[in-house]
Amino acid sequence: MTPGEMVREAARDGKALRQMVGDAEIVPLLMSLVQLTGRREYLDLARPYIAGAWHYLQTIPKDLQRRIRTDLVAAIESAADDGRAIVDQPAPELLDDMIEVAVGRRLTDEYRGVFRDETNFGGVDNRRVQWRHGRPKQADDFLVVVIGAGFSGVAAAIKLKEAGIPFVVVEKNPDVGGTWFENTYPGLGVDTPCHFYSYAFEPNAEWSSYFAEGSEILAYIRKCADKHGIRQHIRFNEELVSAHFDEAANRWVVRTRGKDGADHEIVCNALFSGAGILNRPMLPNIPGRDSFRGPAFHSAAWDKGFDPAGKRVAQIGVGASGIQIAPTIAPVVDQLYIFQRSPHWVIKHPLYHENVSSAVRWAMANIPFYASWFRFRLFYAASDGFHATLKMDPDWKHKAESLNEANHKMRQELIAAISLELADRPDLLAKAIPSYPPFGKRMLRDNNWFRTLKRDNVELVTEDIDRIEADAVVAGGKRYPVDAIVYATGFHASRMLWPMDIRGRGGVSLRDLWGDDDPRAHLGITVPGFPNLFLFYGPNTNLAHGGSAVFHSECQLRYAILALREVIEAGASTIEVKKEPFEAYNERVDEAMRSMVWSHGGVTSWYKNKKGRVTMNSPWRLVDYRNMTAELDVENYRIDGSDAGKAISNEAA
Ligand code: NAP
Repeated sequence: MTPGEMVREAARDGKALRQMVGDAEIVPLLMSLVQLTGRREYLDLARPYIAGAWHYLQTIPKDLQRRIRTDLVAAIESAADDGRAIVDQPAPELLDDMIEVAVGRRLTDEYRGVFRDETNFGGVDNRRVQWRHGRPKQADDFLVVVIGAGFSGVAAAIKLKEAGIPFVVVEKNPDVGGTWFENTYPGLGVDTPCHFYSYAFEPNAEWSSYFAEGSEILAYIRKCADKHGIRQHIRFNEELVSAHFDEAANRWVVRTRGKDGADHEIVCNALFSGAGILNRPMLPNIPGRDSFRGPAFHSAAWDKGFDPAGKRVAQIGVGASGIQIAPTIAPVVDQLYIFQRSPHWVIKHPLYHENVSSAVRWAMANIPFYASWFRFRLFYAASDGFHATLKMDPDWKHKAESLNEANHKMRQELIAAISLELADRPDLLAKAIPSYPPFGKRMLRDNNWFRTLKRDNVELVTEDIDRIEADAVVAGGKRYPVDAIVYATGFHASRMLWPMDIRGRGGVSLRDLWGDDDPRAHLGITVPGFPNLFLFYGPNTNLAHGGSAVFHSECQLRYAILALREVIEAGASTIEVKKEPFEAYNERVDEAMRSMVWSHGGVTSWYKNKKGRVTMNSPWRLVDYRNMTAELDVENYRIDGSDAGKAISNEAA
């Protein structure tokens, strides 16, 4: 709906309008009011009471809240009555002030682009790439193969369709959703606020909670795929096995394998990888693993027939998956042994289990600009705010345990919170506090974790696992008899795109270039020698300070489509990043990474490869990455070949 349609709809039922505005979150309401009326004075009145972008960080007095709510109802009714056009974009100075009040901090100009991308004012997708002179005819003869129909692949399909570039998606599963389809473990959910962990171009007013369960996220991805009509472009149950670049033809030759074992070939111009990095389960090399006789499975391959009730279960691993599984199954199992190799930092979040009220959901759907401000506030709250505190201060005295004063303060606060939780269990306290600085490994949300550890039927085992036997896990010389084993042991993330065999010019494969675990790409997206290959969630693009992988995907996708626009409009065949900028970018990444917490010597994590290089994470703030990828740095690319009259069959699309 346009803002004009929204006000007319909202004003139709005055009683509902008053009631919902009376209960919805005050700061997004304030922003809607300022935007509808253009009156800045409301900002000045509220500014002193907003300390941050989470709603619990505002203390706007009740009488001022009443005034904002009353005036907003009046503004909506008057806009609906006089039918005047509503201005979508506030003037830049007013906008800067609004942003400052909304997030409780003055943001620099560099955030203006992110703000535009994320807020979608008036339903406009500001990341959408437009053809410069209308869609060129040669776009008909172009074909993109997208690997995977997870969050990135579905977005890629939607955006390629919108641009009128033919494509086909190859998906190994029988449905869309990727990691959210594959993971079904008990307690599955997201720990990034989902109003931000969702496409900016497809806001969802219906999220039932701030941090949705896995099934709701999967339903959202399915809904987006259906709404945009992309299912018919997806070849389900077909896995991409290999792809090689045919230099004579300037084409990618893709081989896929169906569930029936039959191989298929697709010849295409470009390859988009939405394969992700968290979908090849890693089982630990523990002696005797195969000798276990009971059910044993990875968290990402949960045995749906397995009923944990009354069983003795071993859970190996306490990462983001493990911390969700244990608290969910502990109440029903007979005994749970949790095997922890090293502890994670675990932090409480006041909204982690909170539902979004019906008034807020109504406001998102019916009050102009409300949803946009709601999203932007969460974007800011969950992203760059912490970044500066994750850099090592070279003069810092407590280098082993923290990085700088702010990080140290956070450490102390976390220890205080854990100590409170485990005050009556000093044995657990000693095992629960990490030695490395906060944020070194992925920060985990407290999902009743410490309370779970204290249960009578739960034991936290920190001794090294010696071996697995037919009916037990043996650790530190002690046998723990179990009926089932859950491996919450993570993924082969560093082995990016493995086991696919992707070969570029000269038959060189990504494995030849990257080795087993050292992936690199320009901006995490393009690789020299691999023309027209674009990676989403590629090397050094994982977000570990905050933020959302979906945000990065949308940045990468826009960049990839900008690149295709360059090739297609020029009537060329290929675009390929040059070696020098690729190397220079990776040097910049490594240089920036050296001072970030993830490089800390005391940290082991899936972010680092065997040599200790951080290959997974982005060292940048979200705003930096967005600004680096918002335009194509065309000078860093070679655009070659003429495709005039060389149309390929794109029956596959
Ligand atoms: P993970 O974070 O890599 O955790 C793996 C766990 O298994 C760690 O505790 C690790 O111990 C342990 N482990 C691995 N090999 C072991 C061995 N041989 N013996 C004993 N313990 C072993 O994996 P994950 O929990 O699946 O999470 C992976 C990523 O997926 C997360 O970082 C996150 O990005 C994403 N994720 C997100 C959510 C969410 O949004 N809520 C949920 C799940 C996953 P060490 O720490 O000592 O290595």
